[in-house]
Amino acid sequence: MQTDIAISRAAILKPINEIAATLSIPPQAVEPYGHFKAKIDLSRVPATGKQGKLILVTAINPTPAGEGKSTTSVGLADALNRIGKRAILCLREPSLGPCFGTKGGAAGGGYAQVVPMEDINLHFTGDFHAITSAHNLLAAMIDNHVHWGNALDIDVRRIVWRRVLDMNDRALRDIAQSLGGPANGYPRESGFDITVASEVMAILCLASDLEDLEARLGRIVVAYTRGKQPVTARDLKADGAMAVLLAQAVKPNLVQTLEGNPAFVHGGPFANIAHGCNSVIATRAALGLGDYVVTEAGFGADLGAEKFFDIKCRQSGLKPSAAVIVATVRALKMNGGVAKADLGIADPEAVRRGGVNLARHIENVRQFGVPAIVAINKFSTDTEAELEVIREIAAAQGSEAILCTHWADGGVGAQALAEKVAELCDHATPQFAPLYDDGLSLFDKINTVATRIYRAEEAIADPGVHAQLKRWEDAGFGALPVCMAKTQYSFSTDPAKLGAPTGHVVPVREVRLSAGAGFVVAICGEIMTMPGLPRVPAAESIRFGANGEIEGLF
Ligand code: ADP
Repeated sequence: MQTDIAISRAAILKPINEIAATLSIPPQAVEPYGHFKAKIDLSRVPATGKQGKLILVTAINPTPAGEGKSTTSVGLADALNRIGKRAILCLREPSLGPCFGTKGGAAGGGYAQVVPMEDINLHFTGDFHAITSAHNLLAAMIDNHVHWGNALDIDVRRIVWRRVLDMNDRALRDIAQSLGGPANGYPRESGFDITVASEVMAILCLASDLEDLEARLGRIVVAYTRGKQPVTARDLKADGAMAVLLAQAVKPNLVQTLEGNPAFVHGGPFANIAHGCNSVIATRAALGLGDYVVTEAGFGADLGAEKFFDIKCRQSGLKPSAAVIVATVRALKMNGGVAKADLGIADPEAVRRGGVNLARHIENVRQFGVPAIVAINKFSTDTEAELEVIREIAAAQGSEAILCTHWADGGVGAQALAEKVAELCDHATPQFAPLYDDGLSLFDKINTVATRIYRAEEAIADPGVHAQLKRWEDAGFGALPVCMAKTQYSFSTDPAKLGAPTGHVVPVREVRLSAGAGFVVAICGEIMTMPGLPRVPAAESIRFGANGEIEGLF
């Protein structure tokens, strides 16, 4: 099989206007970026009154390589179109950092990709640069405010707004800034996060429109005064200029799949300290234009699906009709204790042992009132005996596992899945409800996720964490949902506890307020908000080949 980039390059793309026309988007709403990408000006798209069915693609706890959620989302959207359904795909935009690190691109894979792959992975329509600029404008305005007399009485030891950059650069994690004398401001410690970890990114992805975006930007808490009162972006009068910088970024990006079906690729927040889903604006637009909308959430269902339901759907009022849980033989084997190097050896019993992981994710998704179906993303090393075990595990949960070969075959390989998903959407009455009520205390919300989704005995925290949560409740932030940040490899906070661990506790190390995004982050374990590059970064093999085409972007 060819590499992802070779497959994507061989594709004959349709002009983006043609893709927009298939959705009846009027030409005046299409703002082309080159020939194959466009921003859609939703103010020029007439309301259809339509409400398509929303399908979430999520997964079991992943292996380090990812389980193929994006690939399966693309395959499913193509397959739905193949069986005559008007389906639109909604994905996240990839970050530059991982492209040059270990993970490679993030536009699906094999014959289930969104294209143009190089553009989507590298700069795309500039959204991340706009977010970086808006974020750093606010950072500059904080230091500037302090420099010119600090009328707001900002405690420079309690500035919580760092700077961002869309690159993996460990050198910038912790920095001393404003050195060099009085003209350069007050020296203090700070640091950089990767752009996808910016609260501005989460805000862009949760805002319902430009107006809501500006209101949320204004609510960002950037620092505390010497009297411990929150200082916001609005206090600094930064919200208006930040919104202006984001005016283009807020418009969803339209591209196509390899099979010429429409895809919105818009926004890409971290899935740990943020909620890990594409923008609400894109999802809503797609629901108004298509009959079925396929979207994905980051990491496994314990993190991604929970936040999709409890943060994105809660805030936006979206009601998903079905969920697809992507499982692979190799990830289940890993969950069953097989070492990475041995994943190629057939071992149905290990699949069975690891299957407890899949079973728990199916149960969990159902807790939200959403019917779940399992997509087996087939790898060439899978054996029939191993695949059969997955079918048995799903059946034992009253669900069904469908073998999918979209990576090797394109949409036709996910047609059986598409039939089942369409049937679920059309015939099951969805009973979606978030896991907990807004009125529960912040710590009880954390504890609810820990016990009901992670199946921990309890969540625990130091008195300092409890006191902080109490202060936020007193300040009026108590109704916000919680955003859990923990390892994606395990239901527990220990990445080595695979399968379906029980008896663990979830220690909350730190809590952070994302008042603009509208959630309280509970950090459980070491969470990296500025990744580093590996010993041999992918960047070393990315170059122009003899014919001027990009090589090494897999
Ligand atoms: P996720 O969304 O879960 O992170 P992706 O869909 O981005 O995963 O896929 C991760 C990588 O795995 C991609 O490089 C993709 O080409 C590859 N991949 C996905 N499915 C398969 C498969 N069935 N066989 C081989 N490689 C696959």
